[in-house]
Amino acid sequence: MRGAILYAPGDLRVDERHDPKIVESADAVIRLSATCVCGSDLWPYRGIEAVDGPSPMGHEYVGIVEEVGSDVRTVKPGQFVIGSFFASDNTCEICKAGYQTSCVHRVPMGTLGAQAEYLRVPLADGTLVATPDVPSDDLLPSLLAASDVLGTGWFGAAAADVRPGKTVAVVGDGAVGLLGVLAAKQLGAERIIAMSRHESRQKFALDFGATAVVTERGDDGVAKIKDLTDGLGAHSVIEAVGTQESMMQAIRSTRPGGHVGYVGVSHDVELPGQELFFSHVHLHGGPAPVRRFLPELIDLIWNRTIDPGKVFDLTLPLDQAAEGYRAMDERRAIKTLLQP
Ligand SMILES: [Zn+2]
Repeated sequence: MRGAILYAPGDLRVDERHDPKIVESADAVIRLSATCVCGSDLWPYRGIEAVDGPSPMGHEYVGIVEEVGSDVRTVKPGQFVIGSFFASDNTCEICKAGYQTSCVHRVPMGTLGAQAEYLRVPLADGTLVATPDVPSDDLLPSLLAASDVLGTGWFGAAAADVRPGKTVAVVGDGAVGLLGVLAAKQLGAERIIAMSRHESRQKFALDFGATAVVTERGDDGVAKIKDLTDGLGAHSVIEAVGTQESMMQAIRSTRPGGHVGYVGVSHDVELPGQELFFSHVHLHGGPAPVRRFLPELIDLIWNRTIDPGKVFDLTLPLDQAAEGYRAMDERRAIKTLLQP
């Protein structure tokens, strides 16, 4: 089969890879209907994370089940399924508590490489959620978004304790931040302040439900959020970048007693203990347990209540994945959908 492989920073190629097979009895193999490039794929692509030899890439996927192992009970060949970036059994204590990305049996899907024609999915019964039927093509982008960016933005909003009537600020205008805006709106936030310097992304944010845009960042951005909230800060702040500046911007934009939901993959963030102590801010986040939210998100997409697939502003054949990475690296695209 064909699949994207990162050979070295900046050197992404679509090459022949071995066809995946059932390895464990709980596995499924799916034929991908769509896959995409994640903001986190850019970290190794940019050389900020080490690349240890040729690595298959991609961890977002939707597709049709081709084959299942002998222990798979709920997932059947022919079903259209969605999974997340960690395979999970969905039965251990941690999964049952809603933290499937920390499942005691978790398997990171990125190592299996979802930017490809086929994908092996471990722990298929726990990992995959089937849609009611095979969806029409126009639903594919939104269902694919549920695999990661929507689920991650949703967890950011849940971790930030977004509730009806509250004021929410969103740090980061990538796909996750934009879908954090969408999630905040669905969860009933009254005011949603998107922090974005890019006009095209501000438009997306407003379209997804933002009620105001703050273009300043860092301490100036914090001052602006305070201005807009009677000097108090937001009730809930979604942090969707993962840098020192964005994390401090999120914490300082939150009022005492408020919540930060951090879902930007953290890179060299160090929190000052004393400032944290006196902030009275709740911090919760991490790799989003997207599996927790998948049934609800699929339902909202299936009923056409939400249209998160709009974040894909570039669609390319899988063979042009390299251009998909470049476009995101150069911020010409928010998110690239790849068609196998
Ligand atoms: Zn588990």
